[in-house]
Amino acid sequence: MYANIIIDISHEMVDKPFQYRIPPDLEPEISVGIQVEIPFGAGNRLRKGYVVEVTETAEFDIGKIKDIAGVAAHGVAAHSRLIQMAWWLKERYGSTMNQALKTVLPVKQKVKPKQARFIRRALSPQETKKAAEEAAAKHYGARERLLKVLVDAEELPYEVAVNQMNLTGATLKPMVEKGMITLEAETVFRNPRIGGDRTSSGVELNREQREAVEDFTGRYDAGIRETALVYGVTGSGKTEVYMEMIAHVLEKGRQVIVLIPEIALTYQTVLRFYRRFGSVVSIINSRMSAGERYDQFERAKNGQVRIMIGPRSALFTPFSDLGLIIMDEEHETAYKSETSPRYHAREAAVYLAGLCRASVVLGSATPSLEAYTRALDGQWRLYRLSQRAKRDSRMACVHLVDLREELKQGNKSMFSRKLLEAMEGRLEAGQQTMLFMNRRGYASFVSCRSCGEAVKCPHCDVTLTLHFGQKLVCHYCGYEVKSPDRCPKCTSPYIAGFGTGTQKVEEMTKKMFPKARVLRMDMDTTSRKGGHEEILSAFAQGQADILIGTQMIVKGHDFPNVTLVGVLAADLSLYSPDFRCGERTFQLLTQAAGRAGRGGLMGEVVIQTYNPEHYSIDCAARQDYETFYRQEMVYRDMLRYPPGFQLLAIMVSCKSEEVLSAAMADFGRWAAAAGQPGSMGEDAGLKAEMIGPAQAPVYKVNDIYRKILYLKHENYDILVKLKNCMERKSRKASWYQQVMIQYDFA
Ligand code: ADP
Ligand code: ZN
Ligand code: ZN
Repeated sequence: MYANIIIDISHEMVDKPFQYRIPPDLEPEISVGIQVEIPFGAGNRLRKGYVVEVTETAEFDIGKIKDIAGVAAHGVAAHSRLIQMAWWLKERYGSTMNQALKTVLPVKQKVKPKQARFIRRALSPQETKKAAEEAAAKHYGARERLLKVLVDAEELPYEVAVNQMNLTGATLKPMVEKGMITLEAETVFRNPRIGGDRTSSGVELNREQREAVEDFTGRYDAGIRETALVYGVTGSGKTEVYMEMIAHVLEKGRQVIVLIPEIALTYQTVLRFYRRFGSVVSIINSRMSAGERYDQFERAKNGQVRIMIGPRSALFTPFSDLGLIIMDEEHETAYKSETSPRYHAREAAVYLAGLCRASVVLGSATPSLEAYTRALDGQWRLYRLSQRAKRDSRMACVHLVDLREELKQGNKSMFSRKLLEAMEGRLEAGQQTMLFMNRRGYASFVSCRSCGEAVKCPHCDVTLTLHFGQKLVCHYCGYEVKSPDRCPKCTSPYIAGFGTGTQKVEEMTKKMFPKARVLRMDMDTTSRKGGHEEILSAFAQGQADILIGTQMIVKGHDFPNVTLVGVLAADLSLYSPDFRCGERTFQLLTQAAGRAGRGGLMGEVVIQTYNPEHYSIDCAARQDYETFYRQEMVYRDMLRYPPGFQLLAIMVSCKSEEVLSAAMADFGRWAAAAGQPGSMGEDAGLKAEMIGPAQAPVYKVNDIYRKILYLKHENYDILVKLKNCMERKSRKASWYQQVMIQYDFA
């Protein structure tokens, strides 16, 4: 037996594992993640390293392979765990060990770690408040934002100001000079002293919240480690519940990871955690540099940080004694990785918790079918929060408008009469409206009215998207071209944009309501760093009457003055080749509806659709998750989709269509042969249902062709075995070097 060993725990080292022989007497002790001592270099000096893979075949000249000297006495548990985690990701999701290690190991920073820095308030709360008002009068938006926060928080970590609130040195420097704030660095570990009452967040939990917290803490103290789902409607106080649970686990001296999808990781959310727990809280996000993230992980390792908040990569924080993983908005698609290993953070969290004797708490207003099924089965614990927590906040009143009827009545505009009327009412009352459109760009594509051709990307099988009415962009490969004056195919000058997008909504809104102040938020207006936060805070501060946007406006922020939410075309998200599109539509609409009436004012929601009878839309309008869940489960079970069945997609891509076809035919043959009566050895008993092979929904991307084969089975483990079997066979195939193979569990 041989072991591949990396000398150093970092991203950079995984490309250079060293192979050693495992002496027979050590074999029982050696497994992935174990720290060992090995003779290294010409002098054979003993060094420590971690086993990342155990194999039966030597990759080098057997005569030159050295023996492992022994097992190291005290490996760092967190490091062993990360490597075990990588092994699990590779096995369960299908990737190379290299890719899996790169997913979990930190990118090492060469320079010395920075100290944690803080921004402190230098004025009294009253003076700070006054300064915030003066800043507002002068339209110093960023300064105002910071001062407002400092009114009740005495200090704020520099990272939060820069990464979450998008403040820059240019804003901070004059504030220091004017004596409004000071910048401080702390070298030593110290007790948190951020303003606010840290023993509780000041709210008294309601009955449902209290029951959830008491059940959790009671079971935690009894030594039970498990997964629980907090199913609570929007605004039901889930975050308060998490914070109580976190406080309990911290008291035991253990640490906590809080997963929040990036889009919902706004500074309001982050501040709630800082106010409660102070500087033991840290945040990572994808906008941070590798070095900044490494810094945060180092601080977690040496105990300065005890709560790590972030998107799915926060799971790989090297805590010494992780006791709890919270995963908010558990249903979010962003929790699934889109590169190999294509893991789901929910499953990875449950596995990691098992390694650390930690518990997992998932939360959502619209739980994924996977989570809710397990909660109903009793595999997971279920906590329900059925009411909005704030006494004056009620669920909004929802109207469903049938756009076909509107058309029959002669209304060809994108606004129904109901919505127009409601918008008018809001403008008169000085209240705010959000318009939600699940599509970006001005018009989705350009096509020719003479020959009917849509303008396509020359490298991909998709139509190009028109931006700002002048350039065409491919959303798959980034190809850009000036919008043509004539049809590229038949040279007819009659070509035009079709479909509607946020820009068009903005244009129409301004036309209908010339006096209204309108803000638009989509990929185009937020691509600049901080654009996102700027627009949302301008809207929160009442600088606009109407906010138009894609799904980014649906999450995270609390806008107390928004009393109307309009969904312009609810069915758009129903037309996608993904079997989860019904679930996505329901989730989006429910979340959108949850935005209205969060303050004391009654909220109203208008959902426009061509499909009012579709259960995803109908149930969302009635805010009826249970009925939606039952209907969707019937559909999934009937078509044998997850969660009842498991689905593995094998996607193969190749520059040559011929090679691709040959490779895919082989995969199809292997899958069909596996588990046939009479099949032997590794194939035996692996009979799965097979769909395809067929072309991917987008066949060509970046001049590379793609085909997919789906395998279905009730048992996940069978699919994992099939994947391993295919992997072994493909490695011996003649086309192996010419194709790329990706495994994706749905
Ligand atoms: P969720 O995470 O479920 O959307 P939050 O925890 O953000 O809900 O709570 C929504 C709002 O209700 C917040 O402003 C929060 O401070 C408030 N809140 C939560 N629990 C209570 C409570 N028990 N009493 C009063 N207000 C509460
Ligand atoms: Zn044409
Ligand atoms: Zn393209």
